[in-house]
Amino acid sequence: MSFKKEIARRRTFGIVSHPDAGKTTLTEKLLLFGGAIQEAGAVKSNKIKKGATSDFMEIERQRGISVATSVLAFEYNGIKVNILDTPGHKDFAEDTFRTLTAVDSVIVVVDVAKGVEPQTEKLVEVCRMRNIPMIVFVNKLDREGKDAFELLDEIEEKLHLKVTPLSFPIGMGYDFKGIYNLWEKNVNLFSGDSRKNIEETIQVSNLEDSILDELVGEDSANNLREELELVQGVYPAFDQEEYLAGHQQPVFFGSALNNFGVRELLDCFVKIAPPPRPKMSEERLVLPNEDAFSGFVFKIHANMDPKHRDRLAFIKIVSGVFERNKPYLHVRNKKNLKFSSPNAFFAERKEIVDISYPGDIVGLHDTGNFKIGDTLTSGEILHYKGIPAFSPEHFRYINNADPMKSKQLAKGIDQLMDEGVAQLFTLELNGRKVIGTVGALQYEVIQYRLEHEYGAKCTYEPLGVSKACWVDPEDPKSEEFKEFLRVKQRFMAKDKRGQLVFLADSPFTLQMTQQKYPSVKMHYVSEFK
Ligand code: GDP
Repeated sequence: MSFKKEIARRRTFGIVSHPDAGKTTLTEKLLLFGGAIQEAGAVKSNKIKKGATSDFMEIERQRGISVATSVLAFEYNGIKVNILDTPGHKDFAEDTFRTLTAVDSVIVVVDVAKGVEPQTEKLVEVCRMRNIPMIVFVNKLDREGKDAFELLDEIEEKLHLKVTPLSFPIGMGYDFKGIYNLWEKNVNLFSGDSRKNIEETIQVSNLEDSILDELVGEDSANNLREELELVQGVYPAFDQEEYLAGHQQPVFFGSALNNFGVRELLDCFVKIAPPPRPKMSEERLVLPNEDAFSGFVFKIHANMDPKHRDRLAFIKIVSGVFERNKPYLHVRNKKNLKFSSPNAFFAERKEIVDISYPGDIVGLHDTGNFKIGDTLTSGEILHYKGIPAFSPEHFRYINNADPMKSKQLAKGIDQLMDEGVAQLFTLELNGRKVIGTVGALQYEVIQYRLEHEYGAKCTYEPLGVSKACWVDPEDPKSEEFKEFLRVKQRFMAKDKRGQLVFLADSPFTLQMTQQKYPSVKMHYVSEFK
């Protein structure tokens, strides 16, 4: 197959949702359609239920054995689908944000009863900012939930989306009869039999056709006719250009658990979702069909097996082909690296591959060369944008608890930060080290991993900081900036890249500081230029 065809047939996407909306279940059903797995229950949920560290460790251990859960690839009707796993737990939101830099589109799962939940709002906001094409899947229609129109309103309001339903439920919960597919113009009847994998659909090209009454009963049929009339009156027709530009979001309804409405979603997805998209680097826009290879690291996975300390760096291929045993330039280190066993991922396994194409994810064994955001190329100096650090929400001093192991501690902290587990800030005044995280759970994770992977011990000390802001003075030589640095010197720190950060002890202080020094801009993300 030609290079261009290989690119055109790839769909790399992520599924985002609030925990429990049904992301894992949907992923599993998609894999069933792809023939990638044979039965339900094969996909391990990587969910953290109680927010306990032991849960996290258990998951990491499982993942150490099968890191394949990070990327799930399968073939469907000649299309190569790559699903990137995104943790739903809020303490790992940053991991998800980074993974979203490697997707070309997204499916958002919403629970019909719970509606739009906080984590969905956050994740969709990130996708919206980047104009990532999104499809919404309203799940759990076999349960009593919100009225479809009410839910569509809520999705538009809370998620700031412009929706257009491509399927519509006939009844709900106890009364759930099936789905009318506006995209394919047919009816799919619900039988509630979760074992059946592929449902039968009945062609209903004309809504006035009495076959509809026979299928779902006269009342439901008339109801549906009215509702669909309303749909057509209220919502714009589906427009692929608008969807691809991130300006319109098609909505599907179904029940992942019952494998209902999933095929409709997948059939539409493979038709409309974008193949690998061009990506902006600091230097220029890079197109997937360029001959020269380029890609970037969006995730680093530690191997939890103490006998194999190497890590797996996940690279999204942006342009050209990636070949085994070929030297590529590690742009930050200005070094050429060769990889003898690049991994490709499938539903339940990983495999060494000789060649990978744009849109694909390859896993490279790494002994400490890579950081999140690193670029690999055929030789060109390129830096991919869009992997910012976000301001953490929690801050603690980290102390060495075993003076004999200070080297191990330093190395451990260094590597964990490269993996993006948390952020390190070094105070300007006294060089003390502060760990900033998105969730409190990470502190335990760091402590555990430092001990088990690096043989180092640490303790934490509370620190009264509520936000880290990246400092961006209009004029670094101005008197105002000098005064700011002098007055706030106790709160100034450097991040790992050496960027200057202001640690604000409260939102109030931050506000006052901004008022007092208006020429010193404060940013909540590390990438602002
Ligand atoms: P995740 O946290 O988003 O990955 O959610 P899961 O896929 O683990 O689903 C959370 C719970 O909802 C599980 O108990 C699922 O069995 C259940 N669930 C998922 N889809 C459906 C559905 O369509 N109907 C019903 N009734 N339950 C569902």
